[in-house]
Amino acid sequence: MKKRSSGKIQEKLLELWQADTQREQEKSERILESKNEWFDKYEENYGNEPVKSISPKKRKVDKSTGNKNNTRRQSFPRSRSRSRKLRLREFFGNTNYEDGSLVRNKKGTNPQPNRDKHLEEYINCLKQTANTNIVDSHVKSNLPKSQQKTIKKLQNDESIIIKEADKGGGIVIMDKDHYKDMVLNQLEDGLFYQKLNGNRDKSTMSKIRKLIKEYSDNLTDKEKDYLKNFEVKTSNFYGLPKIHKSKEIQDHVENCDSMYIKINRPTDLKIRPIIAGPSCSTQRLSNLLDILLKPLCIKVPSFVRDDMDFLNYIPDRVPLDTILILNSAKGFLPILHKSEKMKDLVDKSQLIGSRRQAPNLKKLLTRAQFSTQKVAEIQKCGDPRCGTCEMLEVGQSKTLKSGTVIKPNKSMNCKSENVIYCATCPTCNKNYIGQTNRLIDRVRVHKQQIKDPSIRNSPCSEHFDRCGKGKFKIYPFFKMWTEDKIPREAKEQYFIELYKPALNRK
Ligand SMILES: [Zn+2]
Ligand SMILES: [Zn+2]
Repeated sequence: MKKRSSGKIQEKLLELWQADTQREQEKSERILESKNEWFDKYEENYGNEPVKSISPKKRKVDKSTGNKNNTRRQSFPRSRSRSRKLRLREFFGNTNYEDGSLVRNKKGTNPQPNRDKHLEEYINCLKQTANTNIVDSHVKSNLPKSQQKTIKKLQNDESIIIKEADKGGGIVIMDKDHYKDMVLNQLEDGLFYQKLNGNRDKSTMSKIRKLIKEYSDNLTDKEKDYLKNFEVKTSNFYGLPKIHKSKEIQDHVENCDSMYIKINRPTDLKIRPIIAGPSCSTQRLSNLLDILLKPLCIKVPSFVRDDMDFLNYIPDRVPLDTILILNSAKGFLPILHKSEKMKDLVDKSQLIGSRRQAPNLKKLLTRAQFSTQKVAEIQKCGDPRCGTCEMLEVGQSKTLKSGTVIKPNKSMNCKSENVIYCATCPTCNKNYIGQTNRLIDRVRVHKQQIKDPSIRNSPCSEHFDRCGKGKFKIYPFFKMWTEDKIPREAKEQYFIELYKPALNRK
């Protein structure tokens, strides 16, 4: 402050500061007041249940009044997809699908807003509260860069393979060729394994299609679609080292006083074979069978129906030092207290809570896939009735009209999902880049738009009709890591700006 500043200025400043603090104080008082109000209301509705145990989905908008004050402040990072889910639930109801299908493919169905005005009001409230509380979905790693690099290096080290131990949760680092020998040793046992001529996924799928045709009358169209049209991935075979069964390792452990042991290839180490096929050819059929068989499970003597049923199985008396392990102590405690006998039995202090594990080194470094560093390739699915096979461009790369060569980030076929694709005019080779959650659906839509000008919403359909004489080629080249539409659209935009395909211009 300059010398000329007299007492007057200081007075003025003091005044300003005081006004400022006054405002701040009033503001915090108002916040406190509204918080108290909220808690009062909360207590009225829920008594003294702990705040966190009530999830927002249990709260419904009062249909008769549409009272939006019922909505609680809560952060919803993805309110858009949540809104869609809510409308879908209203649209389809909570139980089976409207046509009676037990299973079906996920679709990009977006029910129109404003079917139910109370629901819309609820959605609006959610959006407003969510926007003030945006949570960044990209959580920063808490590891320093150098350690992240080391982990990457270990992951990509082709000379070793890292697996969890079959029992005990230890981590085992093996020479890759040693692991390979053990796996092959296992697979060469003709009693349990049979050598196949090539991949059987396609023939299994055609058997499933035959089966569906045979029982066509018993399945809805959506169920048939669910069973037939999905991205088949061949199951992985891997082995977990049974270090607890190896005498050589056990002896070594006993004579060793450290966090880890190092041992030359033990001759008596065996592996437990695991076949993991989360999207193998029969997975969908198994899921449907599971749904069909579930109602019959109650006939099995060892069946436990629900929490109360479970309580009936708990013995009247157990030894004093019995330990009860609960999957989620907080959620389970009220259930246990429903039973008088358990209430006396369960002492809170003796409960061991178990949680889902956070990502750790073991999870980061062990994986089912035996990396063979295959080059990603686009292939036809081979289904004789597939409408996409004939349009699909195959191979490990594609050259755009501009001369740019694009290579797919993953191997894909007609049934691939959540992809960015390039559609090409067969006459002039001009390109169009788009995104879709299901490639076969997108090909269908493009075909419809080419046939019917009234439903066209992209300029490329007109071009394919006129210049391509109603034909186009399609090449998926980027497989998304998520089913979410928003990042997919962002990626699509990124590629459009990168490659500037002629047919994306309006
Ligand atoms: Zn196909
Ligand atoms: Zn053309």
